Parts: sequence; C-alpha cells; structure tokens
Amino acid sequence: MNVLFNELFGKYTLPQEVKEKGIYPYYRPLESGQDPVVKMQGKDVLMFGSNSYLGLSDDPRLKEAAIEAIKKYGTSCSGSRFLNGTLDIHLELEEKLAKLVGKEEAVTYSTGFQVNLGTVSLGTRDGYIFLDSYDHASIIDGSRLSFSKVLKFGHNDMASLEDKLSRVETDSPKLIVVDGIYSMSGDIAPLPQILDLADKYNAAVMVDDAHGLGVIGNQGRGTSDHFGVTDRVDLIMGTFSKSFGSLGGFIAGNHVMLNYIKHNSRSLIFSASMPPANVAAVSKAIDIMLEEPQRISHLWDITNFAHEEFVRRGFDIGGTQSPIFPLYVRDVDKCLTAVKMALDDGVFITPVIPPAVPQDSVIIRFALMATHSKEQVEDGITRLENIFRRLEIIK
Ligand code: PMP
Repeated sequence: MNVLFNELFGKYTLPQEVKEKGIYPYYRPLESGQDPVVKMQGKDVLMFGSNSYLGLSDDPRLKEAAIEAIKKYGTSCSGSRFLNGTLDIHLELEEKLAKLVGKEEAVTYSTGFQVNLGTVSLGTRDGYIFLDSYDHASIIDGSRLSFSKVLKFGHNDMASLEDKLSRVETDSPKLIVVDGIYSMSGDIAPLPQILDLADKYNAAVMVDDAHGLGVIGNQGRGTSDHFGVTDRVDLIMGTFSKSFGSLGGFIAGNHVMLNYIKHNSRSLIFSASMPPANVAAVSKAIDIMLEEPQRISHLWDITNFAHEEFVRRGFDIGGTQSPIFPLYVRDVDKCLTAVKMALDDGVFITPVIPPAVPQDSVIIRFALMATHSKEQVEDGITRLENIFRRLEIIK
C-alpha cells in the first residue's frame, strides 16, 4: 500500500481503543440462521438485533425455493439485467412486486443500497432533492452522486420541509425522498402531509420502504398503503434484506419513470443482477406473507406488548410506532458496555453511536421478528432492564 495512505489510515485507531476496553460491538459472528435464538460461540443467544421482521430468512420454504432455483439456473447471472443477466424469474418477481405495492412497473437491483444510489442520483442540474435528516445513508449517497442540489429538512418536520420547498425556483424539478418507517427511530413518515406539500410545490415523492414492507399496510404492502396514498407517491423502493429473507432491492413507479430508470440508472445497468437463489427466496417470501397474515398480526401483538413493557419499566423509547425500538442511552461508553453485558447475558442488540447519530441520540436498537414468542420478548426486556438499571441508564 502507498506509504501516505498507510500513515493516514494507520492513525485511525478508534476500533482498537474500544477493543482494548473489551466492548467492541461489531462484526460479531453468528453460527446459525437469523432466528429468534441464534448460536454464538456455541451458546444460545436471544436475537433482538435483526431486520428479519417476518422471520423468514431461515424458513425451510425459502431455502427450498432457493435450492431449486440454483439447480435450474445456477449460482450467478454473470452480468447485469441490462445485457445478459435477465431471467424469466426476474420478470415474474418484478410483476409481483409492482402488484404488491400498487404501481405499474418495478425493476430489481442486486441490493437496496444500489437502488437508492442509482435512482436518487438521476436528477438534473436545475433540480433539487429534499432529504429528511434521518434518511438512510444510501439515499444520502445517491443524492451526492446527483447533479441536483440537495436540501435537508428536519426529521418529520413539515414546517422545515415547506420552508425548504418555498425557497427554490417554482418551475425547477423537485424530488422529496423519505423513509417510510425510519430504521433507527422506528417512527413513520407523515406521508399525507408530505404529499400535500409536494402537490403545493409541484414536487415528486419517493418513499424508501425498506422497513415498512412486510410490517405495515394491508397484508404488509407498506407505508403508502398504510396511509391509503399509494396513487399519490411517485416512486416506492424496497429491499429484500429485511422482511423478505433474501438480498436485493427494487423500485416501482409508472411506466414513464421506469423506462427512464431502466435505461439510465448506473448501479442497475453496470452491476450484475440478483442471483437466482435470491430471486426465488423473495418471491416465496411474498407468497408466504400474503398467505399467512397471522405473521404480521403476531408481529404487532408483540410490538404493542414490548411498547407497554418498555414504558412501564421506565425506558426512553422516543416516538417509535413500529417493531423497531430505539432505547435511548445518550452516552457512548454506557451504550457499548450495555451491548457487551447483554451479550454476556445471552441477548444480542445493536448500538447506534456517532457518526451515525449525534451524541445526544445514542441508542441501542431493539427489533422484533414475527417468530419471537411473547415469552422471549419479555425475557429479553427483563434482562435489558437489569443491565440498564445497573448502568443507571434508567432509574
Ligand atoms: N434503505 C434503508 C432505509 C435501509 O435501512 C437499508 C438497509 N440498512 C437500505 C436502504 C439498503 O438496503 P440493502 O441492505 O438491501 O442494501
């Protein structure tokens, strides 16, 4: 490696300092599937750090579908959707996705991150992109790749959004990009109000529903469906790495939008398509989600239960409205210590610290899966309560 870069990167020793304290929380290996109980160093650990909201990533039916797809199509598409990497099952999945979210057409990418990189970036030089300050990193990176100017508004703050919208030229192209459910704070974007402002200022709206699909809306159809505003939202994106037990992502909209995206989005055109096993797994996950509505209703039963329990025991859980619980700690050392103590006590949770969030928003993220039992949720919360009290995070 170049000496200068070695010196530069060599100065970055923060992870080593945290490791020396014995509280390093990243890259912890699991020895099992992403289930409510996972194996770590041979021990059973309660998993509350996953995004597998429907608990499908280790489902035998998804595994079987993936195996059959490998047998028929092999392990890779060896190229992009644009050229040689389109399979009949990609097209079938895209039709299913478009129908699911109520849009004319959809196209799949090999990750959700790439969807945002390749779509948020498509604006023109005279355009503007309006981002919620809690938008996902992939949306921010997509906006950085765009020629359009970027304006950030306060999280879910409609006065702030209107203030930004009112400052730019009336006839310029404008795109507002929000998450449906926010991945860390667990609250929901007020889509009806956002769409009213979009109408008033003639802006398009894109919703990243990575955490909304499979969780809210009729049969898990997502945030736009939840508010009954699907027709008014221009673009809906989703990922397959959360509720749908796979890897990949998609964007859906009308034919005009999709025609442009399919022929101009660089992370779609210049990157290999989703492998057959992943396509088959998502497709099966959607079928199961639609056929087994009890999964989502159980997810909400345990979500409401956890909400009551956290509040009753004195946790600060912010304004969450979903199976994602931000447990406010507001102190980096205490946060990392709590995560380590929890793992020692058989509970996997994840820390969210700067630069991902400001210092006063340091949280532990606790997320539920439809396959958790109520007893497991109660057990996890009790263990966390003991740790939070010992560290005086809650009194
Ligand atoms: N958007 C949001 C809101 C996300 O939380 C994530 C994943 N953390 C992504 C996009 C990217 O999805 P993927 O994991 O498929 O790259």
